[in-house]
Amino acid sequence: MKKHIIGVDIGGTKIAAGVVTRGGELRCKVVVPTMAEVGVDTSLGQVYMSIRDVLKAGGFGMDQIEGIGVCAPGPLDQDKGVVHNPPNLPGWKDVPLASLIRKKFRKSTKLENDANAAGMAEAIWGAARGFKHVFYVTVSTGIGTAVIIDGRIYHGKNGMAGEGGHVTISHDAKGAACNCGNIGCIEAMASGPSTVKHLLKKLKKNPRRKTCIIDMAGGDPDKVTMVTVGKAARKGDKVALETIAEEGRLLGIWLGSMISILDPEIIVIGGGVSLLGNLLFKEIRRTIPSRTINIYARKTPVVQAKLKKDVGLLGAASIFME
Ligand SMILES: [Zn+2]
Repeated sequence: MKKHIIGVDIGGTKIAAGVVTRGGELRCKVVVPTMAEVGVDTSLGQVYMSIRDVLKAGGFGMDQIEGIGVCAPGPLDQDKGVVHNPPNLPGWKDVPLASLIRKKFRKSTKLENDANAAGMAEAIWGAARGFKHVFYVTVSTGIGTAVIIDGRIYHGKNGMAGEGGHVTISHDAKGAACNCGNIGCIEAMASGPSTVKHLLKKLKKNPRRKTCIIDMAGGDPDKVTMVTVGKAARKGDKVALETIAEEGRLLGIWLGSMISILDPEIIVIGGGVSLLGNLLFKEIRRTIPSRTINIYARKTPVVQAKLKKDVGLLGAASIFME
């Protein structure tokens, strides 16, 4: 009988579980609310339920399952399988998630943080398929990264490696306080919300600049997101185009440094902001070569992620393939 893997992607608001083949094909999927606000026991119950439900939904038996891969927001200890205290899973404190699931379902279970898992899925099944040294980036509400060396996630001494989003790129960035407590992290400079914040500040300073961005958000500056900016840019809005170019420039400066350290074979960029496509990527590619000592950087492919909305699930499953 063909063995499959269950991938479970735990987020702050919902849990997605899927049955995935070794070839990376998602055979069936369920989504349940996390209910983190009710307490850790309830949300653990939701995790178990998602696993039972996905088996039932796809008509699979546990004997067809090789193991369970779980991804959750960090900080977590992938070696021990313990989730420490993620800001968006309130009430979760040092939860031994992998061993709880292992005992409950009597299946080998592995835990990984969401950015690392997504990077692994791209390396095995996605845009970096066939590459061994991969730098993966996800740009959305934050910036997460994964460092893959020789086909394996690099974890460092304490399992805390690969937090590229918290590399400082501006030492005195006023107004760029990061959620991690530092200032001037690339996440605080170039994530989706950071870019929008910067844009709105600029418009406030210069209210006569013509742009359709605010109108496109229904006249409410608080409703502006990078999706709005992307739409405006495609209509030729100069402010929107400038905003995306500036975000690309910052990401390019940062990626130049990442290339100097890692000399990766390929850089894969996913997350909502990557859907801006070439408007963003051309600026990133243009900036990188002048920001690294690596003479081959110009040839390092910088590509859009291939696995879109199910990357969390596939990521969770992919850590079994590592
Ligand atoms: Zn930070």
